[in-house]
Amino acid sequence: MERPNAWKTYNKTELKKVEALAAEYRTFIDNGKTERECAELSVAALEKAGYVSLDQVIAAKKALKPGDKVYLNQMGKAVLTFLIGKKPLAEGMNIVGAHIDSPRLDLKQNPLYEDGDFALADTHYYGGIKKYQWVARALALHGVVVKKDGTTVRITIGEKDTDPVVGVSDLLPHLAQDQMSKKMSEAITGEDLDIILGGKPLKDEEKEPVKAYLLKILKDEYGIEEEDLISAEIEAVPAGKSRDFGLDRSMIIGYGHDDRVCAFAELKAVLELTGIPAYTCCGMLVDKEEIGSVGATGMRSNYLENAVAEILELQGAYSELNVRRALRNSRMLSCDVSAGFDPMYAGAFEKKNAAWLGRGVCFNKFTGSRGKSGSNDANAEYLAKLRRIMDENKVCWQTAELGKVDQGGGGTIAYICALYGMEVIDSGVSVLNMHAPMEIISKADLYESVKAYKAFMQKAE
Ligand code: MN
Ligand code: MN
Repeated sequence: MERPNAWKTYNKTELKKVEALAAEYRTFIDNGKTERECAELSVAALEKAGYVSLDQVIAAKKALKPGDKVYLNQMGKAVLTFLIGKKPLAEGMNIVGAHIDSPRLDLKQNPLYEDGDFALADTHYYGGIKKYQWVARALALHGVVVKKDGTTVRITIGEKDTDPVVGVSDLLPHLAQDQMSKKMSEAITGEDLDIILGGKPLKDEEKEPVKAYLLKILKDEYGIEEEDLISAEIEAVPAGKSRDFGLDRSMIIGYGHDDRVCAFAELKAVLELTGIPAYTCCGMLVDKEEIGSVGATGMRSNYLENAVAEILELQGAYSELNVRRALRNSRMLSCDVSAGFDPMYAGAFEKKNAAWLGRGVCFNKFTGSRGKSGSNDANAEYLAKLRRIMDENKVCWQTAELGKVDQGGGGTIAYICALYGMEVIDSGVSVLNMHAPMEIISKADLYESVKAYKAFMQKAE
C-alpha cells in the first residue's frame, strides 16, 4: 500500500521537464503575489493561447461550437475557462478548480497613524495565520488604490532589490519575559500586527510630522491622498522571491503555494490541452477560499452557474434544466494543497494516511474536522474512476487525510461545488509549513499535478 516516490520514476528527460516546470512556476508565484496579480497573469497566458473573453462573445452574440475557448474574468480576482467539448454541455463538464488567494496582512480602511516617531499602518489579517510568524520579517506592499474619479493606482513596493521593504516589529528577548510566558496563540495578537511604514519627520510640521512625511511621499510618488486608502486593497506579503529548497534542489520555498501551486498546475494543464475534448473542460481559479469562499469573487458566488447558463445560451441550448444538468453531471477535482507529512511534527499525522512530499498528487476525502465534518467524502465509485485514470496515464498519486483524527481540520471549495450534485474530491500538492509566510513544496508533486489535471480533463467521464 506504500505509494512510490515520484523522483524514483524519472529518467533524464523527465528530470529536465520537472526543472523547467519548476522554473516556470517560480516566475508565476514571484509575479503573482495577490489574487489580482494571479488573475492578470492567467488571463494574459489564456489570451495568448487563444482564449477569448466570454463577455466579448456574449456582446457579439457569437455561437459557441466544440473546440472554442472562452474565459470569464470575475472582477479581476477569479478566472473561469471553458474549452468546449463535443458532447452537449448538459452531459456535464470535467472541472478542475483551485484558489488564488493566500493568507496575508491587509491594510485596514483607515490604516495610518503615528506613534513613537514612527508612521504605522493598522492591518487586519486575511486567512488563518500563526501571527508570530509574521513579525520581524521583510514585507512588500501589493495592491490597488482606486481614487474617487475612478482611476486606479497600482502599488508594488518591496520586490525590486532597490525597493524599500516594510514590516512588523517584535520585542527583543531581553525584555520579553511577559511575552514569552504567554500562550503561542496570545503572544502576538491581531492588533499587534501593525506595519512600520516610516520614521522620518516632515520639517516644520507640528502635528504628527512622521505621518505627514509619509503622506507627502504617497502624494508625490503615487498621487494618493490619505482618504483614497478607504477605496484601496493593499496586501502586505513576504518580500522577495521563491527559492530552490534543499541541497538537492528538490523543493521550492516561497510565499503562497497554498494554493497557487494547484492554480498554476491547473492553468498549465488547461493551456496544454490539445484537440477537441469529449466533455467540456472547465478550469477555475477562484478567490476568497481562505476566508470561507465568500464575496462576489468567492466560490459561493454564482459565477460558475451564470457562466454555464451563458454558454448554453450561446449554443442555443439554454434552459434552467440544462444549467442544472450541466452542473449535476459534472466531475470535479477541487485542487487544493494537502498538509505534507513533517517528521518534526509526526504526532499531528497518521503516517499511513498522510501526504508525503515527493509522492505525487494527493487525493483527499477528509479535509474537515472531528467526525469528517466539512469533508467532501467523495464516493468510492468516483475514486475508482480516478485511480484508473491516474494509473493509465502514469501519474504518481497518493491519498491522505488532513492530519490524524481529531487533530484539527480545514476547508476547501469542494463542498460548494458538491451542492450541485456533481462528483467532487480534493486533490493537490503537499505543503510543508502551510500558511506560514514561506511554504515548501516538492517539484515532483507540482509536475505530477499537471499530469493529473490534464489526464482528468481529457479522460474523465
Ligand atoms: Mn487552500
Ligand atoms: Mn489555505
